[in-house]
Amino acid sequence: MARRYFLSKSKLNAYRQCARRLWLEVHRKDLIEISPATQRKFDVGHRVGELARAEYPDGVLIGHDSALAAALSETRAALAASPRRPVFEATVRHADVLVRADLLVPTAGGFHMAEVKSSGEVKPYHVTDVAIQAWVFRGAGIPVRSVEVRHIDGGFVYPGGGDYRGLFARGDVEADVARLEPEVPKWVREAQAILNRPEPDLPMGAHCDDPFECPFKRHCARLAGPAPAFPVTLLPGAQGGRLAEELIAAGFADLRDVPAARIGEDAKLRRIHEATVSGRAYLSPAAREVLAGWGAPRRYLDFETIGFTVPRWAGTRPFQQVPFQWSCHAEDAGGRLTHAEFLDLSGEDPSRACAESLVAALGQTGPIVAYSAAFESGVIQRLAERDPDLAPPLAAIRARLVDLLPVVRAHYYHRDMKGSYSIKDVLPTVAPELAHATLGEVQDGGGAQAAYVEAIAPETTDERRAELGRSLREYCARDTLGMVRVARALSG
Ligand code: SF4
Repeated sequence: MARRYFLSKSKLNAYRQCARRLWLEVHRKDLIEISPATQRKFDVGHRVGELARAEYPDGVLIGHDSALAAALSETRAALAASPRRPVFEATVRHADVLVRADLLVPTAGGFHMAEVKSSGEVKPYHVTDVAIQAWVFRGAGIPVRSVEVRHIDGGFVYPGGGDYRGLFARGDVEADVARLEPEVPKWVREAQAILNRPEPDLPMGAHCDDPFECPFKRHCARLAGPAPAFPVTLLPGAQGGRLAEELIAAGFADLRDVPAARIGEDAKLRRIHEATVSGRAYLSPAAREVLAGWGAPRRYLDFETIGFTVPRWAGTRPFQQVPFQWSCHAEDAGGRLTHAEFLDLSGEDPSRACAESLVAALGQTGPIVAYSAAFESGVIQRLAERDPDLAPPLAAIRARLVDLLPVVRAHYYHRDMKGSYSIKDVLPTVAPELAHATLGEVQDGGGAQAAYVEAIAPETTDERRAELGRSLREYCARDTLGMVRVARALSG
């Protein structure tokens, strides 16, 4: 006889992402590996949940995060003793599925249920979440009259002083939940059936990161055996993705095995294929002309920014990218380099100091080279909006920006880039000694943001802050020096 497994909302979500993930979460918990990025998302979610609860000062919080039997009985007691008070983390079980509702607010004839999310919009999996919650609560006899997703309002401007009223927007998901809720019993049956069988042998794919990064990627990759050195999936863009699917369906795994005739007419895909098969890098002489047209002296600029889900500084919005660091390498007509930089680890709003330092350091003339310059341009624009007295010199800086990325895209490809034009993938092909993998603690933008958040935390020691500062300076300077080296390589 089939065993009945105990399920939760997260288990059903795991099943919706991948049946193998569900199986592993139940039978091989020991293989779970939570990445630092995923852990950071959990931490933000906790903070957002606290702020959502703060709107209901008379609410009752059901604790017992791991003692779920206690949470179930405490919920029953809270609903019986104070049926007119909101309940946070109300924990309910129905048909072997246990869920916890972020907010359960009394309303006419029952309750309004809200799921709190730290994203700036309603996403499809949020609707799934609410449908599962509503099905369990209603099945357990608790009258849920209405539902919503409460998410971050990206237009909210933090006035300061801890006043977060208006941080949340209400996403109307009633119709979508009504459509999905009848599906939940089928998901439960299918999930139970999966759990009663051996581990599903499902291949890895795009679903391993959609909608969440799966914590079993290392396990599945290990069982899948060695991946091809140049998988057809490296073909970039929507067209490359479609072609990769066709090639996989035709039995190709490594791009080097694909005949040129199967690539089609797209010049970029053909170039990638040719460079991958031959092992010879592609470099168009036109790159040299474009770069020569920029003239000298040049400056190479890169920002590191932080976008808090819950704004930290007055005058900022959720997710607004605020620069806390920049690096600039200046190259004169003779190729001599000088370096300038800015880094603020005080924890105060770094915007004003950042803007002033930029204006002081970037001079009046000459191109300012960025990699994906729209980002730098947007950052400078927002600095100007926050400090209008600096708007004219900041506008002048924006007007001097030129973009190295489209030049690389159009005129260069090395097979070791594996379909990526990120500076981190291009740089090792022209200057292996500068590869970001040779850096210390901070090797990418996510690492820089994590280092910044740790550095400004009150509990961080001065010694640790100094260490993080060194890693951040080394990382940002590597990006701008890397641009110099890539531009030189493209100039032949
Ligand atoms: S890594 Fe991918 S295939 Fe493996 S369990 Fe996770 S989602 Fe499924």
